[in-house]
Amino acid sequence: MLSPIQEYLQQLHVRYASATNGKVADYIPELSKADPNWFGICIATRDGHVYEVGDTRQPFTIQSISKALVYGMALEDRGEEHVLSRIGVEPSGEAFNAISLKEGTGSPFNPMINAGAIATCGQLLSKDGKSRVERVVDYLSGFAGRELKINNDVYESESETGHRNRAIGWLLRNFGILDEDPDETLETYFKQCSVEVTCRDLALMGATLANQGVNPVTQKRAIPADYVDNVLGVMATCGMYDWSGEWLYRVGLPAKSGVGGGILAVLPGQVGIGVFSPPLDAQGNSYRGIQVCMDVSRELALHMLNPTATPRSAVRLAYHGGEIVSRRRLPVQARELLSVNGAMIQVMELQGGLTFTTIEPVIRQATALAEVCRYIIFDVRAVVNANSVSLELLASLSTRLAARGVRMIFCQPRGLLYSLRGMGITSHDIFPTMDAALETCEDALLLEVTGFSWRPLGAMKLKSCSLFRNCTNDDITFLEQELQRRRYDNGQPIIRTADKADEMFVVLSGTVEVQVLAEDQSRKRVDVLTAGMTVGEMAFLDGSPRSADVVAMEPVECLVLPKAWFDSLNERRPSLKITLLQEMTLEISARLRQANVAISAFHRF
Ligand code: GLN
Repeated sequence: MLSPIQEYLQQLHVRYASATNGKVADYIPELSKADPNWFGICIATRDGHVYEVGDTRQPFTIQSISKALVYGMALEDRGEEHVLSRIGVEPSGEAFNAISLKEGTGSPFNPMINAGAIATCGQLLSKDGKSRVERVVDYLSGFAGRELKINNDVYESESETGHRNRAIGWLLRNFGILDEDPDETLETYFKQCSVEVTCRDLALMGATLANQGVNPVTQKRAIPADYVDNVLGVMATCGMYDWSGEWLYRVGLPAKSGVGGGILAVLPGQVGIGVFSPPLDAQGNSYRGIQVCMDVSRELALHMLNPTATPRSAVRLAYHGGEIVSRRRLPVQARELLSVNGAMIQVMELQGGLTFTTIEPVIRQATALAEVCRYIIFDVRAVVNANSVSLELLASLSTRLAARGVRMIFCQPRGLLYSLRGMGITSHDIFPTMDAALETCEDALLLEVTGFSWRPLGAMKLKSCSLFRNCTNDDITFLEQELQRRRYDNGQPIIRTADKADEMFVVLSGTVEVQVLAEDQSRKRVDVLTAGMTVGEMAFLDGSPRSADVVAMEPVECLVLPKAWFDSLNERRPSLKITLLQEMTLEISARLRQANVAISAFHRF
């Protein structure tokens, strides 16, 4: 066993395995058959991993733990208003089977005591050709992620002896909390309590509640997300009967216990815990279950009111357009303009879950930047989820910034696309890649700063190409005479990976893209070059095979410089060779400098 978590649970199990406190319930005769030594502990994570130790696969009846989940079903069937009009959500401070109803209305204090649970059961509907009992079993199965069954012996045993619950049922009928005679509701309730589960099921049911209502293993929704907090709310205040206050103080996890010996506890958003041990304390809660939960909460720091890992700002990295540029090679002049004015483009990479707490620092930072910049790009690739408040705040920020002349852009939205669109962010402001977003902002910024588009129109004269800018007129004439031009169609490869590098190209018109093959076999763009730029010079210089593909993105014309010709300049025209090598060195060092700036921006955090 390598996992220290598994090791911890085993030690915890040993700690209480020989405890003799508590007494197995016998008021339902069938329950007294339980072995007092049965003891299991399970922790299920939000992504469906289950740690288990002891008798975690031993079936037992769910009993009162069903009350919490079935309360969610009633909310779904009848709506919150209806349910609240019949059953309160106030802790009663009394035993689970107390005959306690609010004075006057006769409504039970909460759905976790028997009176409230029977009233809740009475609100359930039979529908889609299924009886209430069948629906309850299906519903509980959804939480467990497997098909559960009723233990008939326990059901019959409880039905034969459940006179007290029958009395409660008739009282509820008397006060009009139940609309019909209670017999059928009581049998449904007894069956609901007799559904067989394991300790492992309890942990997964808890993890389902922790995971906003979706079972983390089956990925199926067990309860609408909107009702999860209602269910957890009554668990937190009333789940442990007249020990609920004590429990919240000591353990601090919404939980529900049952007389079968089970306890289900939830750390909202994080984990589900199941403990099973039949001997009960005076309140009817599992003795070992309580001990284990107190220890786990303290030792693993899970008390929900003492959040040790407070959520931090969603900003993972922030940089500006002077530090990181789009993956295309810009003319020297454009590059210089961007390094001076790059701060007009601000980029924030966001990560994790977006909530009020994590988005608030983002908003604060963005509003401060908006005073000095023109574009804010949010890279949301690493955002795992976003609640509606955070999206509303972002959408509202976007409108406010637009009014100030600052454009807000989202890129790599993935799963967030529809939510962003739903909040009124137009597709115009959502880009599939960071590169596309940066290019748009760079082009707009350059246009604004220089007053015209930097993109060359038509074919370039040799003298205007960067490689030849320091050549004499005589050199240019020489080059025109000696070198050939080659044309490529849109999509045609100019250079292929692994080719021998015996030519270098100067692009005279059109655009070419440098691409590498990614691990997933897709082609990733690493550079885009326009007219006036040199391509293929790296392998040309060091003689290694081509490291990337170069493809024409439109009809392209290139000037071809063969290696043999270049070498022949040593003898024939050394001054030209020096000029060309100088220019190539400058270009390569400028690119290295750019890469260093980008790397240091990425290392900032
Ligand atoms: N079926 C049991 C009863 O009504 C449930 C009680 C419990 O688990 N606390 O008595």
